[in-house]
Amino acid sequence: MTDSAARGDGPAGVGDGTRAVRAGMPEPVKYEPTLPGPVFAAHFHLPGDPTGGYAYARDENPTWTHLERAIGELEAPDAEDVETLAFASGMAAISAVLFSQLRAGDAVVLPDDGYQVLPLVREQLMAYGIEVRTAPTGGDAQLDVLDVLDGAKLLWIETPSNPGLDVCDVRRLADAAHARGTLVAVDNTLATPLGQRPLELGADFAVASGTKMLTGHGDLLLGYVSCRDAELTASVRRWRKIVGAIPGPMEAWLAHRSLATLQLRADRQNANALALAEALRERPEVSGLRYPGLPEDPSHKVASRQMRRFGCVVSFTLPTRARAERFLDSLRLVDDATSFGGVRSTAERRRRWGGDAVPEGFIRFSAGAEDPADLVADVLRALDESTD
Ligand SMILES: *Cc1c(COP(=O)(O)O)cnc(C)c1O
Repeated sequence: MTDSAARGDGPAGVGDGTRAVRAGMPEPVKYEPTLPGPVFAAHFHLPGDPTGGYAYARDENPTWTHLERAIGELEAPDAEDVETLAFASGMAAISAVLFSQLRAGDAVVLPDDGYQVLPLVREQLMAYGIEVRTAPTGGDAQLDVLDVLDGAKLLWIETPSNPGLDVCDVRRLADAAHARGTLVAVDNTLATPLGQRPLELGADFAVASGTKMLTGHGDLLLGYVSCRDAELTASVRRWRKIVGAIPGPMEAWLAHRSLATLQLRADRQNANALALAEALRERPEVSGLRYPGLPEDPSHKVASRQMRRFGCVVSFTLPTRARAERFLDSLRLVDDATSFGGVRSTAERRRRWGGDAVPEGFIRFSAGAEDPADLVADVLRALDESTD
């Protein structure tokens, strides 16, 4: 955790933990619960002409309103004008931004190493006559992106990238994009708003899956879009209405309840990820170790400028597919499962999906909230037991 994260730097000077436990809480009302329960309703009483307020639950629901305010307070604590829209999943949120902003003939820049569903999105965008250009997230991303930015309507950034954990400089790219009249969206799934705040770094949209670290229990799917511009927000809201990719009230409520522990979970899980990375660094069979919080990581310099926490995901490569499979099999405290960010550690051999351009022995490891000594010991034991 960096100093600014420890201090907290919101308007009232409160820390992240304070902000997380209070995020989106309504004003106290005597004899009412502090966080009202989920509102299960398809329609609301509506005599006469609709003049605003809750009418039909594909458009608005009081449970979303609390959650959306909460996420907005975390994504942009200093901004009054940021609006957040909740979606049924991260993909619903991502698609809402891309497909509401782009028209046939427009060009968009996507990462070539981003979330594994982006190639499908790319195909769909192309089928609609949208030109898709790609650039890598890490290395000389700056130069690669600048090469393809001219004339693009939207730049899509995923940082840190999943699963490669490359990082790019959001502020520099946003400045370059805005100088060309290009909109910028950042996928903030891996970092969470306690890890980085894309809107403060200049992005027009902060978009994320709430399925992962944000809610952290592996029991729901959710997504959101936060945006500072009223017109852009209205176009994304319109898209949500016509596609109807809305979260259920139960999911929205569970998500809000989980936000209260976001800082606790993030700090423990990130510390576990760092402890794990430090232990893996000493192992001869481990190559390609990546964690933006490791001082020698290629992402570290940029990450420490723009991130306040480095996330709970560590990636590394074991020599062969068989070794990686034996390693996963030998773990006792870590589930072999996809996704990340949950309080229970998970790991997977990422290549089993076929999509990501990673070696056969590539492991994406999501550190949970176990005791650090237990987690590290389990991983080291599994490495020992899985040798040839
Ligand atoms: C998981 C993930 C998504 C998709 O989110 P869902 O909630 O599964 O739809 C998008 N971006 C990143 C970086 C992710 O890890």
